[in-house]
Amino acid sequence: LRIMLRTTAVGWFKEGVLLVNDEGSYVAKAKYYLLSVGAFENYLAFENNDLPGVMGAGGAQTLMNLYGVLPGKKVLVVGSGNVGLIITYQLLQAGASIVAIVEAADRIGGWLVHAAKVRRYGVPILLRHTVIAAEGKERVEKAVITELDESWEPIPGTEKEVECDSILLAVGLTPNTELVRQFGVRTRYVPELGGLVPVRDEYFRTNVPNVFVAGDVVAIEEATTAFMEGWIAAYTMLIDLKGPSKKYVEERSKLVKLLSDYRSSPASQKIRKGWKYAEVVKDE
Ligand SMILES: Cc1cc2nc3c(=O)[nH]c(=O)nc-3n(C[C@H](O)[C@H](O)[C@H](O)COP(=O)(O)OP(=O)(O)OC[C@H]3O[C@@H](n4cnc5c(N)ncnc54)[C@H](O)[C@@H]3O)c2cc1C
Repeated sequence: LRIMLRTTAVGWFKEGVLLVNDEGSYVAKAKYYLLSVGAFENYLAFENNDLPGVMGAGGAQTLMNLYGVLPGKKVLVVGSGNVGLIITYQLLQAGASIVAIVEAADRIGGWLVHAAKVRRYGVPILLRHTVIAAEGKERVEKAVITELDESWEPIPGTEKEVECDSILLAVGLTPNTELVRQFGVRTRYVPELGGLVPVRDEYFRTNVPNVFVAGDVVAIEEATTAFMEGWIAAYTMLIDLKGPSKKYVEERSKLVKLLSDYRSSPASQKIRKGWKYAEVVKDE
C-alpha cells in the first residue's frame, strides 16, 4: 500500500484526482474512491480574533500531542462540548491554568463525566457567556467576556476582562465537503450531522458510482465511528470487485450492526436523528 504524505488532493477532473506535493503534481485515476477528508474547526468572529494566542482546540491539541508544546499557560476555553472539556483537562494535566470555560448555551454541551473532571480542578464553567474581544499588543493578554440573553445576544454592562495568554475555540466542526462536491456527490444540509453532508447509503456509497465517503465528512462524530464507516465502505468495494464472498458480507454485516449498536446510546440521539435525512433514497 502506497501512502503519499504531505500530498493534497486539490481537485477532481474527468481525467482523475489532481494530487499536489513538494515534488510535483500527479493525476490519480482509481476504480474506487473513498473520500474521508474530515472536517474543519469552526471559528468565531470577535474583535482581534487574529491575535496570536487565539486558536482552534484541534490546533492546540496537535501542539501538545504531536510536538509537546503547551499552547498557553493561562487559557480561556470557549465551548463546553466534549472537545472543550477534554482539551481543558489535557491542558490542566500539562500544567496550564484555565481561567474559565465560557459556553453560550444554558447547559454544558459535553458529557457530565468530563465536566465533573474539570470542575474538580476548580475550573469555572460560565453558562450563557461568550468571548467578544481579545486584547494584547503582540499576542493575547486579555479576553473580554460577556453574559448572553436567551437569544444569545450580549447583555450590555456585563462585560468582564479576564487575563489570559490564549483563547481556545472549541465551537464545533463543519464537514469538509469541497472535494466531495467536486466529485458531483449530492449533499444535503443536516444540522444534526454538522451542516452540509454527502448523501449516502448504509454502505457509504454516494450517488456517484464507485465514490464512497466515511468519517467526519459524513457526520461530525468520533474516531471509532469513522473507522467503522471506512471498514464498511472498504468491504463494499471488495464485494463489488470480487463478488459477494461470505466472509466479506458477514464482516460487513457485523460492522453495520456494531455501528448501529454503538449509536443506540442517548449520547448519539442527535446523530440518529440526522442520519435518516442523509440516506440516499431509491428514487433520488
Ligand atoms: C480537538 C478534537 C479532539 C477530539 N478528540 C476525540 C477523542 O478523544 N476521541 C474520539 O473518538 N474522537 C475525537 N475527536 C473526533 C475525531 O478526531 C474525528 O471524529 C476523527 O478524526 C474523524 O476521522 P476522519 O478520518 O473522518 O477525519 P480526520 O481525522 O480529520 O482526517 C481527515 C484527513 O484528511 C486530510 N485531508 C483533508 N482534505 C484533504 C485533501 N484535499 N487532500 C488530502 N488530504 C486531505 C486531512 O489533512 C486529515 O489528515 C476529536 C476532534 C477534535 C477536533
